[in-house]
Amino acid sequence: MKRKISQKLKKELPGLKRNISLKNYTTFKIGGPVKYFFVAKNKEDLIETIKKAKELKLPFFILGGGSNLLVSDKGFDGLVIKILNSKFYIPNSKIFAEAGTPLTLIVNEAAKKGLTGLEWAAGIPGTVGGAIYGNAGAFGRSMKDVVKEVEYGEVGFPSEIRLLKIKNRDCEFSYKDSIFKHKKNLIILSAILQLKKGNKKVIESKIKKNLEQRKKTQPLNFPSAGSIFKNPPGFSAGELIEKCGLKGKKIGGVKISEKHANFILNLGRHPPATQGKAKDVIKLINLIKQKVKNKFKVNLEEEIQILE
Ligand SMILES: Cc1cc2nc3c(=O)[nH]c(=O)nc-3n(C[C@H](O)[C@H](O)[C@H](O)COP(=O)(O)OP(=O)(O)OC[C@H]3O[C@@H](n4cnc5c(N)ncnc54)[C@H](O)[C@@H]3O)c2cc1C
Repeated sequence: MKRKISQKLKKELPGLKRNISLKNYTTFKIGGPVKYFFVAKNKEDLIETIKKAKELKLPFFILGGGSNLLVSDKGFDGLVIKILNSKFYIPNSKIFAEAGTPLTLIVNEAAKKGLTGLEWAAGIPGTVGGAIYGNAGAFGRSMKDVVKEVEYGEVGFPSEIRLLKIKNRDCEFSYKDSIFKHKKNLIILSAILQLKKGNKKVIESKIKKNLEQRKKTQPLNFPSAGSIFKNPPGFSAGELIEKCGLKGKKIGGVKISEKHANFILNLGRHPPATQGKAKDVIKLINLIKQKVKNKFKVNLEEEIQILE
């Protein structure tokens, strides 16, 4: 049966790869192999690939930029579909962008056109789809403030995919959250973002300031997945972790950043340092949760997504 799946997939998805290490597809640079790996370069490829996975009853996972993701050391026994559909255009003060478009690319393109509203997103790695999924945000703003409409595919039974559009108000955006996080059968295909005409120089200087602030506060010289935890209401997760004395705490090849306690770093980038393992990240996550709970009676909740 397994051989049949493999042969069928190979035949119908030219370019399909097998046993690819996922660590190279995440900003954490951690994770084991995936059984099947396919790069979808356009919407049609993406839809067809999901249909094939459903027909073959193969678990699948949509991968954007892999910047909010921890992949387990044993990898994933299914199909990872890396989305690379990245056409975009900017009519007037709107941006139409396919889900695989890098977020920073449209931040820069909007600035070039003198459009304001996305400056906060400068320096956030990943794709437009990933940013909508988790309502990515910074400096008090988030995707909720710019998304006008999202086009998505609703994966149904047995392998039907309905193409639908949803307005901002129906995306159920809230802090680091959207409807797409809760309904895993919804695949973001593209979005229209609404910006405003602004002053190009002011926009560019805001972007520069935001990037400098990131550099000052975030440990960008080691692989990470950004903030590990969401900020609980009324608290900064980083401050709580810091107050537990956990900055610099190391397990195996990973450690809690001294610069920003909500970042866990993979030290293995510079050999002979030990390569970070997902199991050690999980140990650190559990340790942090337990210490913060004991000291502050606060339950931290992961912001990162875990693929296992
Ligand atoms: C150095 C650094 C700084 C960061 N700073 C910030 C920050 O300031 N603010 C912030 O919010 N985040 C930040 N992040 C986290 C991350 O960059 C964002 O969450 C980003 O939006 C994730 O996008 P991605 O394409 O990489 O998603 P991925 O990590 O590839 O995927 C994340 C989740 O989204 C799902 N997904 C992705 N694309 C689709 C799609 N098309 N349809 C359905 N589901 C999809 C995936 O299945 C997965 O569950 C930072 C990360 C790093 C490494």
